[in-house]
Amino acid sequence: MNKKELAILQNIQHLIQQLDCGADDEEQKPNVSSFANRMLALSKITCWRYEPMSNMLFFTDEKGSKKHPSGCSLTLFLKELNRKDRQNMLDAFHRLLTESCEEITFTFAKPFKNGQHWYEVHACRYEKCIIGTMCLLRHEDEQAQKALQDKQKFELLMSIANVFVWEYDVGKKVFSANESLCQKLGVPHKTFPIKELKKVLKIERLDDFLKNIHEKPQQDHSVIHITNPYGDMQFIFETSFNSIIDNEGKCILVLGTLHDITEQEILKDKASRDDLTGCFNRGSADVTLLNTFKRFKETKEQYMIIFFDIDKFKEYNDTFGHDAGDYVLKRFSLLIMQEIRSSDRLFRWGGDEFLLLCSGIAKENMYTYIDRLRRVIACAQFTYSGKKFRVTTSIGAAYYYANDTTYQDAMKRADRSVYKSKLAGRNNACMLLK
Ligand code: GH3
Ligand code: MG
Repeated sequence: MNKKELAILQNIQHLIQQLDCGADDEEQKPNVSSFANRMLALSKITCWRYEPMSNMLFFTDEKGSKKHPSGCSLTLFLKELNRKDRQNMLDAFHRLLTESCEEITFTFAKPFKNGQHWYEVHACRYEKCIIGTMCLLRHEDEQAQKALQDKQKFELLMSIANVFVWEYDVGKKVFSANESLCQKLGVPHKTFPIKELKKVLKIERLDDFLKNIHEKPQQDHSVIHITNPYGDMQFIFETSFNSIIDNEGKCILVLGTLHDITEQEILKDKASRDDLTGCFNRGSADVTLLNTFKRFKETKEQYMIIFFDIDKFKEYNDTFGHDAGDYVLKRFSLLIMQEIRSSDRLFRWGGDEFLLLCSGIAKENMYTYIDRLRRVIACAQFTYSGKKFRVTTSIGAAYYYANDTTYQDAMKRADRSVYKSKLAGRNNACMLLK
């Protein structure tokens, strides 16, 4: 900085000092400042500043100038508020100071001789302080008071009722949860911008869910999987939601309830799986086949049915014992499961027979696919009780034809293909086309 710049800076500092000295004196205030103070006085808004270092709150008075005595400690100020408002205000200050949000609005009630006065507060972080405005909602304004009381009643109800409620502010992209839900998930506070939410909780397919509520926020429901912040608990919730629309038809808020279905989903999953291999069982295969055939008829989406029958399986039982046979079944299903996509399903059809249902494979690639699966098994090393051996499988595949009347038609073709593979000497893959 050169001499000239230094002189200008000193002049500016001198001017600021003069302004500061006169700031409390109405008469000496420059025009701009008195204009601002008049406007502030007219608005009936009190401005305040909170200094965390001294834990002091400073207010302007009704004329817009600094109040005398100009400050009071936050602890003293909070003493006059009820428990809930006190907690709200502390939460808001904490969130602003820890920079988990930029701006916050809240209300509180202050007792006076003639009843309660309600204040609405807007606050933001400014340098190392929190600054804000505080506006008295006229106590004769019954409607405003009633609305606030209703809000408090609603919040109280939400905190005591054992229901899980969330809301999503579409404009601000912020999720909020009621107290019960926060406790259930073990999250520290109630409001989360999406970015923060993604850091705290693992929510499967959250982006799809958000897309869903953005695109068709009308009454709907969905199933979501959530892992808590410590990663030790997984929840499955069924959520029902609906939206609040503004005058222009724009969705501004989505409200939803969550219903914990974790236990019933686990039981359902257990009932649809085979105990030995963990694959889906025959019962669930029937349901899935029925559904996929219906879908094929409606959308022409192609599915491939692949049957596996382990070759000479009986010999493993006879040679090494029944447990060795069990081991072969488990390792076989694991090898296949490692090869398939999460959208494909492997079922244990019975004994040493397995059925794989895949989608999205072009007809011309089907044979290459099943032959690759055959090789995966044939090349794998099986070891049981120190004995090494190989296992092979005969594969038969089929897909739905437009003139099939039931999924059984395709199943018969797949079954005949397995038979063909066996006849061809086993360790073979076949597809029967008509
Ligand atoms: P192929 O090559 O013609 O298929 O001959 P295979 O020996 O595999 O055919 P088969 O159907 O005669 O043998 C299947 C055997 O699987 C008969 C049954 O004892 C055995 N088995 C069925 N379920 C289980 C099971 O859960 N564990 C074990 N270890 N064996 C099973
Ligand atoms: Mg067999």
